[in-house]
Amino acid sequence: MRISAPAKGAIPMHDRPVDQRVHDFSEVDGGMTPGEATIEAERCLQCKKPLCVKGCPVTIEIPAFLREVAAGNFPKAAAIIKEQNMLPAICGRVCPQEVQCEEQCILGLKERPVAIGELERFVADTERAQGMVAPKKQVHNGRRVAVVGAGPAGLTASAELARMGYHVTLFESLHAAGGVLMYGIPAFRLPKEIVKAEIDAVLALGVDLKLNHLVGRSVTVAELLDFDAVFLGTGAGLPYFMGLPGENLPGVYSANEFLTRVNLMHADQFPVFDTPVKRGSRVVVVGGGNVAMDAARVARRLGGKVTLVYRRREEDLPARQAETLRAKEEGVDFVMCANPVRILGDRGITGVECVRMEMCAPDQSGRPEPAPIEGSHFTIDADVFIAAIGQGPNPLLISEIPQLKRGKRGNVTVDSEFRTSMPKVFAGGDVATGAATVILAMGAAKSAAKAMDRMMREG
Ligand SMILES: Cc1cc2nc3c(=O)[nH]c(=O)nc-3n(C[C@H](O)[C@H](O)[C@H](O)COP(=O)(O)OP(=O)(O)OC[C@H]3O[C@@H](n4cnc5c(N)ncnc54)[C@H](O)[C@@H]3O)c2cc1C
Repeated sequence: MRISAPAKGAIPMHDRPVDQRVHDFSEVDGGMTPGEATIEAERCLQCKKPLCVKGCPVTIEIPAFLREVAAGNFPKAAAIIKEQNMLPAICGRVCPQEVQCEEQCILGLKERPVAIGELERFVADTERAQGMVAPKKQVHNGRRVAVVGAGPAGLTASAELARMGYHVTLFESLHAAGGVLMYGIPAFRLPKEIVKAEIDAVLALGVDLKLNHLVGRSVTVAELLDFDAVFLGTGAGLPYFMGLPGENLPGVYSANEFLTRVNLMHADQFPVFDTPVKRGSRVVVVGGGNVAMDAARVARRLGGKVTLVYRRREEDLPARQAETLRAKEEGVDFVMCANPVRILGDRGITGVECVRMEMCAPDQSGRPEPAPIEGSHFTIDADVFIAAIGQGPNPLLISEIPQLKRGKRGNVTVDSEFRTSMPKVFAGGDVATGAATVILAMGAAKSAAKAMDRMMREG
């Protein structure tokens, strides 16, 4: 099924039929065929000053890889992408290309921009299917670097530094690498075997991955500071709650916990795996970003009737448009301009009391500020409540290092070279910016790796 009517010259998307996909966790978007990819890549105008490259936080040579796709030379296209991005099958799937490279594509002025994201994904998937070329290991230069956190930031910093010849030790607290790619984004958007394959390619560069190592606890800060340089990529895994009456009732989850239980602990396969999650028959999800859409779509697949409550208007939803559309297709009910005020119930949840919101004068973000309408309360029946209203930096390690300067929201403060307030300690990704995107975390990590290299070479 197409997610939207294709514009002139457009390649249709291949989403699986709704009645099939809503019952399983297999990937929704089937991707392009080689014929479609070639035709689509031929649309690129090969601009002399390509704006699409400027729109890409990791500066992939987009026209160069598209030229190779158009010529049917897929391995060369993969090699060009991988010079700048070691996680292309992941980025091709989850990057918000519509507000980055594709937004800059000059073709977009008259018709649809080139489907750069779909093509990146096609190239990476084709390379993986044909057997990835093992990357060359560099000769060690004798310097040791520690990277904390194996999410997109930590993986990218590790890959860049290993390619420069550093011995990289990558510490990850969980039993699997990947960060949000593994425990947050559901498999129907990002299959886990694809994440594993791209992580394996990073490890093949000689990166020494230490799983189940919680830095700040099982690895001390003193041990960490013994390395020649340190990169912190510990993410934003601390979920926010609304402070509502009833938030302590069983059946209330943060989206983070709910998705982790399903993705990483296989709660969807209970009792085969023994980490259950409550399969709500009526689920209320609060929030309007990608995390909220993911939680709602997972709850649908676990069999619930799902209502997504968002305090602003539909046009203000921060989630990617395609994912919002898919959530709707899959039967998630959207209640816009409403906010929960209380979770009802005694031993378990029976409902969620909400209030209607009206849009007032624009706030600092430029969007109309929502305000509750007096006397407009209403109740949604529910037995599960999922809060997806944002998350902040994980304080576990950074609170162990008092010298590390932090911003108002607990994020690690960095300068333009991603240096923290501590000598030889750098940071990037969500721990520095607050919850953002995969590609921004990767871009920060690449720049930090360059700065770390400069610092170590200059002594
Ligand atoms: C459900 C969900 C859906 C999303 N969808 C999208 C999307 O579609 N597109 C997009 O671009 N972005 C999306 N994002 C945002 C994106 O995933 C993040 O911006 C990105 O993962 C940040 O990367 P990171 O490496 O900074 O942190 P993370 O991915 O959070 O990785 C941090 C890692 O550090 C580890 N860690 C933390 N503390 C320690 C410690 N003390 N010792 C050792 N290890 C530690 C954690 O276990 C984790 O593995 C989504 C986020 C969520 C939660």
